[in-house]
Amino acid sequence: MTTVEKLELEHFKSAKSHVQEYCPNGTKIDCCRDLIERGMLQKKCDKIHFKRIIKPHTDCNHFEK
Ligand SMILES: [Zn+2]
Repeated sequence: MTTVEKLELEHFKSAKSHVQEYCPNGTKIDCCRDLIERGMLQKKCDKIHFKRIIKPHTDCNHFEK
């Protein structure tokens, strides 16, 4: 594989990785609850969440980082 081909492949991979899927939990809050229930709170969810007006105080502040 040539250098150019490698660069194109890397570009393709990085572009593909930007295609995010929607989180099956819907909103961040529901996603957070799901992670808490499964004891995976430390795990960050990178999927797209539906936007919804939520209370200012949540237990999911780590999602905003
Ligand atoms: Zn999620």
